[in-house]
Amino acid sequence: MDTQSKTGIEKRARAATPEITLQKEAEGLHASHTEAREGEVVLDGIGVSPGIAIGPAYLYARDTFEVEERLLSDDEVEEELERFEKAVARSERDLNKIILVTREKLGEDSADIFEAQLLMLRDEALYNAVEEYIRREKRNADYAVKVVMGKHRRQMEASGSEYLRERANDLLDIEERIIRHLLRGKILSAIARDSIVVAENLTAADVVLFSRRGILGCALDFGGPTSHVSIMARALGVPAVVSLHSVTRDVASGDQIVLDGIRGRVVIRPTEQTLAEYRISRERYRRLIQEEKQLVPLPAETLDGHCLHLHANLELNEELGQLHEYGAEGIGLVRTEILFLVRGSTEISEESQYEVYRKIVEAMNPGVTTFRVFDLGGDKLLPMAHREHNPFLGWRGIRVLLDRPELLRPQLRAILRAGAHGPLRILLPMVTNINELRTFRTHLIEVERDLLAKGVEILANPPVGVMVEVPSVALQADPFARESDFFSIGTNDLTQYVLAVDRGNDLVADLYEELHPAVLMLIRRTVDAARRHGIPVGLCGELASNPRAVPILVGLGIDELSASPVYLPGIKRVIRAMKKTEGEMLARMALEALTADEVREKLDHWLGEHACGFTYFFEGNPRPGEG
Ligand code: PEP
Ligand code: MG
Repeated sequence: MDTQSKTGIEKRARAATPEITLQKEAEGLHASHTEAREGEVVLDGIGVSPGIAIGPAYLYARDTFEVEERLLSDDEVEEELERFEKAVARSERDLNKIILVTREKLGEDSADIFEAQLLMLRDEALYNAVEEYIRREKRNADYAVKVVMGKHRRQMEASGSEYLRERANDLLDIEERIIRHLLRGKILSAIARDSIVVAENLTAADVVLFSRRGILGCALDFGGPTSHVSIMARALGVPAVVSLHSVTRDVASGDQIVLDGIRGRVVIRPTEQTLAEYRISRERYRRLIQEEKQLVPLPAETLDGHCLHLHANLELNEELGQLHEYGAEGIGLVRTEILFLVRGSTEISEESQYEVYRKIVEAMNPGVTTFRVFDLGGDKLLPMAHREHNPFLGWRGIRVLLDRPELLRPQLRAILRAGAHGPLRILLPMVTNINELRTFRTHLIEVERDLLAKGVEILANPPVGVMVEVPSVALQADPFARESDFFSIGTNDLTQYVLAVDRGNDLVADLYEELHPAVLMLIRRTVDAARRHGIPVGLCGELASNPRAVPILVGLGIDELSASPVYLPGIKRVIRAMKKTEGEMLARMALEALTADEVREKLDHWLGEHACGFTYFFEGNPRPGEG
């Protein structure tokens, strides 16, 4: 019987489920059963993009594809060798991740098989034989892999040794893995509309491509709530559950599955009863989203008259239409690097940037647009990037840009020119010391002077702000506030850097606590410094869209909250149901707490007492006093 509820490491993952689920749960949005019914498999992970999807699975990880033979011209050979190396490097990364998770979940011995595969992947005899084949026969890399590895495999299968016969299976796995990476484009076009993509992991760009094919959701073995694949799924409104650990093993392509992005759950081959319950939940969720839209024309004002600004985070042109639909007053964060990375090209000329930025500014005008200059590195790499052992502590954000003025300056020119079409601000990522801000300003002044001298129409002297996402900036918030025009707190990174927890690593996802008192202390410190120097302070990490955190953030004195547009009405709902003084009281309690659990307990207690304030609008009722 394959009826089962997964335990073990999933418990760790469950503990890290974003608080967004808490409130929805309280409001009875879920199908009621928690245990698997006979015949179905229930997996719990982390719900990172809300919504409920029901449909057939498309297993991105295991399917094999038709490999075609192609004769290369002489100048194509080098390119093909590079494609091969890239596919091997990607397969290597997959396997390293699988090894980590398998060790944690099943013990050291179970990871042996993947360690053996990792060695085979870089086995010189095999690797060189494929390279040699591409060079000698002038054939495409996928064909070469299939021919060369296939030949080795058949020899192993035919051998009298049981050990070698077993290794032949590993070789098949490697062959398919490399081919999958080589044929990514082709695989994409095979993904059916209305399917739920099941994969070990995806890149942010994959999610964009898949969403354009009309998929219903994503279920992944790996990933954390603030990894960029999760942020992307949210931005696109694709329901997603990550950190499921074994979903690619438990699902076959075509299996019907339910994906509950609110609770962070996947039900494989659900019973009729489960399906019926989830269809009701799906309908309720749709209604809830519609009802929240009634709040769009209303201000984000607390019951005691304190107003916040709600801004949108923007990564994709697709979101432009949502800005007004969900009531964004401005754009608090344009992740410019993602706008270009998802195109899969390195075409980032000044002209192409200007066109994109101008459209955004015009769409948001008269509201302000905040352009963050390229935040490359970390888990967002351009093809030219160096491979690093520890990319989140490496060459990232402003560090890359100051080292590569040929990237920074065209971007600044494009932004300043876009500024002629509406108000904008410039935001610097991954700043750690004041000299970075100063050097940046020198570049800005020079670029400005140059454009003005040429008579180009620009916005001169735009506000420049820093992301407060590295502890050093929060700790030196006063000097930074003196030299900045605004602050934007990036809790996604601030949390990972304060708590030393990789934001994309599902193994430590339960230690990634955005409500940890240490994180809140740094937010308080930043707000206090901003007040002293009279500059506004916003928060654009995922914490801004966490309904449980919003009362504390209001209490800490944040002026602007910035999140994916779809979340703005929900944030407003919380703000309009509370008093600022209550938020201040909660913030004081949270700052005195010792652990994030303690903070959550206090918050839950308060939210419990105020539940009617939060659920009121679910019935579609107007706010008391608004008739
Ligand atoms: C952050 O770090 O909180 C942030 C908003 O930026 P990103 O998620 O792009 O690193
Ligand atoms: Mg960041």
